[in-house]
Amino acid sequence: MQFDKQINNQGAAALQKYIEKTMAKQEDVFKTIIAHAKEYGFVFQSSEIYDGLSAVYDYGQNGVELKNNIKRYWWEAMTMLHDNIVGIDSAIFMHPTIWKASGHVDAFNDPLIDNRDSKKRYRADVLIEDELAKFDDKINKEVAKAAKRFGEAFDEAQFRATNARVLENQKKRDELHERFAKAMNDNNLDELKQIILDYEIVDPISGTRNWTDVRQFNLMFKTEMGSTADGAMNVYLRPETAQGIFVNYLNVQKTGRMRLPFGIAQIGKAFRNEIVARQFIFRMREFEQMEMQFFVRPGEELKWFETWKQTRIKWHKALGLGDEKYRFHDHDKLAHYANAATDIEFQMPFGFKEVEGIHSRTNFDLSQHEKFSGKKIQYFDPELNESYVPYVIETSIGVDRMFLSVFCSCYEDQDLGNGDRRVVLHFPAPIAPVKCAVLPLVKKDGLPEKAREIQHRLRFDFTCAYDEKDSIGKRYRRQDAVGTPYCITVDHQTLEDNTVTLRHRDTMEQTRVNADDLEKILHDEVSLNSLLKKLV
Ligand code: ATP
Repeated sequence: MQFDKQINNQGAAALQKYIEKTMAKQEDVFKTIIAHAKEYGFVFQSSEIYDGLSAVYDYGQNGVELKNNIKRYWWEAMTMLHDNIVGIDSAIFMHPTIWKASGHVDAFNDPLIDNRDSKKRYRADVLIEDELAKFDDKINKEVAKAAKRFGEAFDEAQFRATNARVLENQKKRDELHERFAKAMNDNNLDELKQIILDYEIVDPISGTRNWTDVRQFNLMFKTEMGSTADGAMNVYLRPETAQGIFVNYLNVQKTGRMRLPFGIAQIGKAFRNEIVARQFIFRMREFEQMEMQFFVRPGEELKWFETWKQTRIKWHKALGLGDEKYRFHDHDKLAHYANAATDIEFQMPFGFKEVEGIHSRTNFDLSQHEKFSGKKIQYFDPELNESYVPYVIETSIGVDRMFLSVFCSCYEDQDLGNGDRRVVLHFPAPIAPVKCAVLPLVKKDGLPEKAREIQHRLRFDFTCAYDEKDSIGKRYRRQDAVGTPYCITVDHQTLEDNTVTLRHRDTMEQTRVNADDLEKILHDEVSLNSLLKKLV
């Protein structure tokens, strides 16, 4: 008995070590991915030569192509595949009363807490969420340990339902979760602080519990419009693109003669003075959103909420990054105007995180604008022969978070055997920044001229690179590192029979094809159509 326990303890210690090592490794992988994004022209720190501006980033020559392709995939899926969705592009500056009506002036706040020793500021809700995640980790470790011990005979559901340690941790987690959700719902800042004290949550930097009270902090950036002599007006940088859609609802409905249900889509910048800005481009102060507001008859909103959940998850999964990397996370805390809300979460190197929100916002926004503007914002429903304020389902996705999820999941440091390695970005071909690269095998004998001729033809259809420097092997690696799905090599045989070598990025397989067929071969693989067709 004693001996068994010792073995189990040793096993647990080894497992603990293994888990810690895995987590540290994940952090290292993330750091490597960030370095790769910089080295290959995807993402740069903003104002880098001035030591950077915190939580603001620039996209480089490859990053902007990937980002534009993601936006195009979303835009075309929304506006081209739905007869009843149209797009707009509203201004970033809007009348300040809009933000009063939307509730952002009074309630777009984060609960903040400071640690007096480290002088660092934290979001109280994030500290508590991290504490909740610790209980999840403890439970998962128990499960992983048991799975290893029992092997194939392991019944996870039964273990979770009966193991004393798992049940105890689950109970503690549920208690904390209930208290936390209630405090957030009641906007009870004292209770948030009390939870932090009761659970002995320490500052990750100073390690102390010397906390200030929790205070609310508004996330909107404020600036002035017009000169002071004219009596400048305070305006905000929009914290979401959605309000630009709501205030244009009537314009679009009337000029487009739109009938319910219909949607308005928009892509644009949004700004939030985030306190805890971390994890690279996951949480930025200036970012981009792709939002669609879908206007429906009152009472039909929950049906449409379900429909949009399925439509959006299909859009994500069509990219082929792995179905298991997505999950829905229904909100515990509903905004007072919402009657359903869920997040689509993606498995980032630092855990499952929100990429997109889908919200049933009732008729809150339009009604508020009706109230504050004094203008009637109603829809006359010819079938019901009555007027009403439409209800709204919103789908809201961050371009930058989408970029991050694609980038992280496509990155691979691949062992090719015999001590050979390559870093490859397995981007889905339709959104890859560069679709193909034309490479003359050598820089003489007329090969560069022939290669240029092919590239000049292909560039009308695809982003097409040309590279003649270094050995062909090095050039393949360079294209792998930016995720180019195809390399086209021109050699001496090309001059004789017009065939080229087509190298596939993922398999590194090479096939001989006629140069005249390249447009057709590539088109089927790299056009957005191949993705869009999976959605209908
Ligand atoms: P979080 O809880 O992570 O702060 P949120 O729930 O406030 O996000 P929403 O207001 O629903 O986010 O915004 C919709 C989408 O916009 C998010 O799913 C996310 O992809 C993106 N987004 C929001 N804030 C940021 C940010 N600071 N940086 C980058 N993307 C963001």
